[in-house]
Amino acid sequence: MSSGKKSNKSTSAQAREAAGREVALSRLRNIGIIAHIDAGKTTTTERMLFYAGRLHQMGEVHEGSATMDWMPQEKERGITITSAATTCYWRDHMVNVIDTPGHVDFTVEVERSLRVLDGAVGVFCAVGGVQPQSETVWLQAERYHVPRLVYVNKMDRMGADFGTVVTEIRERLGSNPVPIQLPWGSEETFQGVIDLIEMQAIRVDEESLGATFEVVEIPEDMREAAELARAEMIELLAERDETVLEAFLEEGDLTTEMIKASLRAGVVANELVPVLCGTSLKNKGVQQLLNAVIDFLPSPLDVPPMEGVDPKSGEHVLREADDYGPAGALAFKLMADPYLGQIVFVRVYSGQLKKGQNVFCPRTGKRLRLTNLIRLHADSREEVDVLHSGEIGAVGGLKGVTTGDTICAENAKVELAGIRFPEPVMSMAIEPKTRADKERLEIALVALAAEDPTCMVRLDAETGQTVLSGMGELHLEILKDRMLREYKCQANTGKPMVAYHETVTAPAQAGSEFDREIGGQRQYAKVILAAKPRERGSGNEIIFDLSTKVLPAQYRDVVKEGIENGAMTGVLSQFPVTDTEIRIVGAEVDPECSTEVAFRTAATMAFRDVVLAAKAEILEPIMALDIITPPESMGDVLGDLNGRRGKVKDMVARGIQQVVRAAVPLAELFGYATAVRSLSKGRASYTMEPEQFDIVPEKVKEKLLNRW
Ligand code: GDP
Ligand code: MG
Repeated sequence: MSSGKKSNKSTSAQAREAAGREVALSRLRNIGIIAHIDAGKTTTTERMLFYAGRLHQMGEVHEGSATMDWMPQEKERGITITSAATTCYWRDHMVNVIDTPGHVDFTVEVERSLRVLDGAVGVFCAVGGVQPQSETVWLQAERYHVPRLVYVNKMDRMGADFGTVVTEIRERLGSNPVPIQLPWGSEETFQGVIDLIEMQAIRVDEESLGATFEVVEIPEDMREAAELARAEMIELLAERDETVLEAFLEEGDLTTEMIKASLRAGVVANELVPVLCGTSLKNKGVQQLLNAVIDFLPSPLDVPPMEGVDPKSGEHVLREADDYGPAGALAFKLMADPYLGQIVFVRVYSGQLKKGQNVFCPRTGKRLRLTNLIRLHADSREEVDVLHSGEIGAVGGLKGVTTGDTICAENAKVELAGIRFPEPVMSMAIEPKTRADKERLEIALVALAAEDPTCMVRLDAETGQTVLSGMGELHLEILKDRMLREYKCQANTGKPMVAYHETVTAPAQAGSEFDREIGGQRQYAKVILAAKPRERGSGNEIIFDLSTKVLPAQYRDVVKEGIENGAMTGVLSQFPVTDTEIRIVGAEVDPECSTEVAFRTAATMAFRDVVLAAKAEILEPIMALDIITPPESMGDVLGDLNGRRGKVKDMVARGIQQVVRAAVPLAELFGYATAVRSLSKGRASYTMEPEQFDIVPEKVKEKLLNRW
């Protein structure tokens, strides 16, 4: 058994439940569906919602009508980007399905959904199997200790191979797969599943879109395979569960209840992964998948309590699923709702969020009133009076709350463990297309930056351009799309560029004097600055290191402003200066002629001089790459990395594949997807994540400085 996790019983004994709950905590499932792009996540989710009674008509992804894909551009691209949470009901259980994206540009979205769900369904394609991107999300789920089961989809496709996918789960993902079904037929003969727990065959009726099915005896030609597979399943259970072992030795077999209980315990402890199969497109196997979600994935009672910090004392605290505990909820997604304006998706960990109540946001230090609580279904929204502990829902009209914020009781403040956000690594200039777009653009940019913590907006003081930064080309493209659709704002954009920064590498001191006649009036100021490098990723710090006699208080704000302007505009080129300490060490005031304008300008000039004197360099984003390649292509992949200024950090074998971990400058990764494909005849693939910023080599610096 795994250690360090609370067992089922000890928490549920403490959990108190309010009378008004729609379902008991034990009947609640917060799940996500994680998958490689195209494995069939959207189709599967949509089928689940259909059977769970909330959808009237099935949408097909290729027709652009699937219900989970909220935003129009997702439908056009056929990919799912937002993590909307949808509530549905199955077997008297409430199931909240949190949609997770499959594209690498959006790993932060995956991360925030993993934070709020209790269990996940991994969807793999029966033909493609475990692909590198599914590997990334799988490992993320591992990091968050999210219990999982696997659904092998597309059993109807040519080349479908259930057994190979099970092997890959074991060998590539290092998990412990337990098939609890066998496919009944394969490819065009796939007609249903053999249930190894109840030892029965399920034939799905195509006419009813899979809504009805027949339970029959396991056909003669499948009997032996089914018995063998069942024996293997029981063996896997017995390996970690002594009661199973004893019962099996005594009785020679196990009851359905015993198998289910043992399997559930193994899943909740993150030690077993049940594997099911089906074809979502042809409506086979999805109801059994829903059953497995109920039977095996954890309820909020089965997972450890949420961790947090008391903002006042800094003490570590826990928030348990308990309706009468202090309210503690995590905001995990902001969304613009056509009816309610901005809504905030929350997961309630403890206590209750009640309509009309006041709550507190520790980051802003502000009191908030809960005026509008909503549960979102796939095709409707429902106003509710309470969101109970364990539940997921949305709150309307909450101002100033952003992704990762805690909402808590005013008399029991807590800051729940947040979500990590990487720095944006790509940027592009953006401007309104017409005069009429100018104001809309400003509104859109402010809203998008508030909603998406990996989207940033800044004004380049030198060029006057607005610069939008994000996590990759696709991310920027989607932001631009959303401006058009949600804010009706047309924009011209420059080419996406790597987001470079500037920094200093040595201590230095420099001063600048401003002495000029403006409109017949002499203006004078002198500022002396000292600069030195700070730790990578720590940003700038401005310190006044002189007495108010030397520099009176009245000029300090403008001096600071002058320095900040200089930092934003850059010195070597136009990249913002970062990771630099600036000390104001000297100044000269002329009581007759000194002005604020003179001091601001002198400060900006002195900033430029001191940064140049402190051996300014350019920083570039470095990406962490995980490349998975067949051994034959390894040499070519490594050679290519070398040509891209890549540094190989690690090479390990995983199953029959090789994994190369490398750090590569983002600037060298344009077109990498195509290169990897051609180097390996389409068999290698990779994922990347921002790692850190690093000083560019001299040759690259020269190129950047001479680019105008
Ligand atoms: P997602 O990218 O993981 O959300 O995958 P989608 O649900 O968008 O599906 C990707 C493609 O696979 C679509 O064209 C689907 O119609 C198709 N698809 C999904 N499930 C199945 C299946 O069970 N069998 C077959 N043959 N195709 C499927
Ligand atoms: Mg999708």
